[in-house]
Amino acid sequence: MPISLQTPLVQLKKVGPKYSERLKKVGLETIQDLFFYLPCRYENLTDLTPLDAILPGQKVVIQATVNDILNSRSPRKRMLITQASVNDNLQNNLRVIWFNQPFIAKILRPGHLVNLSGKVKLDNQGLFLSSPSYEIIDPIIPKPNVHTGRIIPIYHETTRLSSRYLRYLIQPLLYLTNYIPDCLPSIIKQKYKLLNLDVALKQIHFPDNLELAQQARQRLSFDEMLLIQLYYLKQKNRIKQLTAPSIPFDLETIKKFVRNLPFTLTNAQRRAAWEIFQDLQKNTPMNRLIEGDVGSGKTVVATMAALIVSQAGYQVAIMAPTAILAQQHFKELSQLLKIFKIKIGLLTSDDSQITLRFPKITRLNKKTLLNRLSKKQIQIVIGTHALIQEKVKLANPGLIIIDEQHRFGVNQRSQLIRNSCQPIPHFLSMTATPIPRSLALTIYSDLDLSLLDEMPHGRQTIITQIINDQARSATYQFVRGQIRQGRQAFVICPRIESSTDKNPPQKKSYRYSLANAPKTYRQLFCDTLLKEEEIKAVIAEYKKLSEKIFPDLKIAMLHGKLNSQEKQKIMTQFKAGKIDLLVATSVIEVGIDVPNATIMMIEGAERFGLAQLHQFRGRVGRGQHQSYCFIFTTNSNQQHNQRLKALITAKNGFELAEKDLEIRGPGQFFGASQSGLPDLAMQALSDPQIIQRARQAAQDLLNDDPQIKKYPLLKTKLEQFRIKIHWE
Ligand code: ADP
Ligand code: MG
Repeated sequence: MPISLQTPLVQLKKVGPKYSERLKKVGLETIQDLFFYLPCRYENLTDLTPLDAILPGQKVVIQATVNDILNSRSPRKRMLITQASVNDNLQNNLRVIWFNQPFIAKILRPGHLVNLSGKVKLDNQGLFLSSPSYEIIDPIIPKPNVHTGRIIPIYHETTRLSSRYLRYLIQPLLYLTNYIPDCLPSIIKQKYKLLNLDVALKQIHFPDNLELAQQARQRLSFDEMLLIQLYYLKQKNRIKQLTAPSIPFDLETIKKFVRNLPFTLTNAQRRAAWEIFQDLQKNTPMNRLIEGDVGSGKTVVATMAALIVSQAGYQVAIMAPTAILAQQHFKELSQLLKIFKIKIGLLTSDDSQITLRFPKITRLNKKTLLNRLSKKQIQIVIGTHALIQEKVKLANPGLIIIDEQHRFGVNQRSQLIRNSCQPIPHFLSMTATPIPRSLALTIYSDLDLSLLDEMPHGRQTIITQIINDQARSATYQFVRGQIRQGRQAFVICPRIESSTDKNPPQKKSYRYSLANAPKTYRQLFCDTLLKEEEIKAVIAEYKKLSEKIFPDLKIAMLHGKLNSQEKQKIMTQFKAGKIDLLVATSVIEVGIDVPNATIMMIEGAERFGLAQLHQFRGRVGRGQHQSYCFIFTTNSNQQHNQRLKALITAKNGFELAEKDLEIRGPGQFFGASQSGLPDLAMQALSDPQIIQRARQAAQDLLNDDPQIKKYPLLKTKLEQFRIKIHWE
């Protein structure tokens, strides 16, 4: 039977129905799929060690002939032992022992020439090789080594697919990589000295040396990074061709606003505002991201933009990820803008309000609100997803602001733009997820960046401590003391491990399909799965704290099952100091501002990313009192601790993000649910050179050929990538 790249794996003799199921679970269905299932690391088993030169403790590869091989049962431990004796042609002997793998005695027979790779150990009978991997060598027709005597690939060993099996499957098929069309233009390959695709695939699985393995990985990462960059640059170019209303800069208005602030702006805030005003004056749409650490004061900057746009006669929509945040922004903007007599509306899925003359606020029904919006009787509308879902029609939108933009998918951004016809509004997003520059250039490469890299004056450092079990009750005592002095506290709970987590095959396949799913779909999926578990955890923690630990305190809980009015009520009570301690899910992660809260306790902290933990911590230290962040873990392994310690040492969110990226690698840094990036591109993130080159290459390509007509293969690939990102 002739085989090709598209041959289903199930048709291969080495596969069969059982293995085909296992392969399918990791997304492998055809021979071509197999080539893109990349090893996660290598073992260098290149050099053979002569039998008379081995030492205990060494990892060695030897070549020898099997003399005899026998199974026996160990008397005490009832283990099956396979013991062989092998010798080289100089008559040096060595014992080899495998445990509980009796089948090996059927595979390796006396007289076989074998390569064995494993660890040398010593017992009372002398040296022996312990559970080595093995490969029979045909002395007459030498075949390429697959498992020993070379650099061998190690794959993620999931769903009962061993590296040994994958090597055995992949190696003889690798010649087929010659037939995979290489979509990278040769001019780029030459300029950046990149391997051909077939060479890269061969070398990434069975490298001649580690340098080539590295080059192969770079080539494959480059491909994905190039697609990402092409996609975003094209998007950026497209937006540049649209028109937006030019908003004149009105110095008097801004002066008046700044004079009325209860604080002075930081230089970073001034700079960001100035960049925004510059953009707004143009008649092409602004597409800018304000990136600033928690508490760096993004809201004020956004408010200035909203002010100047609404004073110019255009409407502004502000979208926040949660109803609580939308409410908070609604109040804050109403307060900040009260002297300007601007009508501000609030729209969430179960609430709609409007400011009359601050602090006077009125509830009105949705229809009325929408109606007033369409008649320009409201200048600024703040809301949640409802702004998209309710088909809000603004009479003349001038600016759209998205807060905590990492919480939204790419699609929602473009959807908001699509909902409005030309001229399209300017676009401003904000994120407090401090991401390293390399990452920012990648996932936000269609945006211009304004950095708030300076905190408002007089911010105190939050005392952060990792609390072990012994110190837990003392910590609770301390918290009670703080609360007696009038302060308030948060407790954040992660989700509890669920039964599906303990079922590895299911977990892996689910993970994998997520890794391939497009961003927004993936986010939705993860969010709903996580929510249920989080809520359970919050309820349990609430019970424990209110019944056992702090029966004397006023405790409340906040989680996703509450509707927005219930949530709002709790938040209002908490802000007013009527609740001492709030147990919450990561709902409160973003944006909440309660200056009297000075204690942040985080349970199961190892479950969260550092950036997220940093966000939680940013909920305290907002007032004049010394604040504390206490970190509890349920599992204290070395790596977790290393990460968590970074929370104590890193000076700010950016430094922390760099550390997190370094320690966990890009994949984990963003978590399965957040990145939307293909795995290889993720790996490339730790290599700024690849990003920079791919960006340059994409720029050159598009300058020369905006529609990529010269490279149809690449164009098709880009189209597939676009569909993958946009599919919902
Ligand atoms: P974030 O950037 O995390 O969204 P906010 O905009 O919520 O931060 O600001 C956090 C707090 O800092 C708010 O209470 C805000 O009023 C205050 N703030 C903002 N800018 C300044 C400043 N320049 N000086 C002092 N306080 C400020
Ligand atoms: Mg904010």
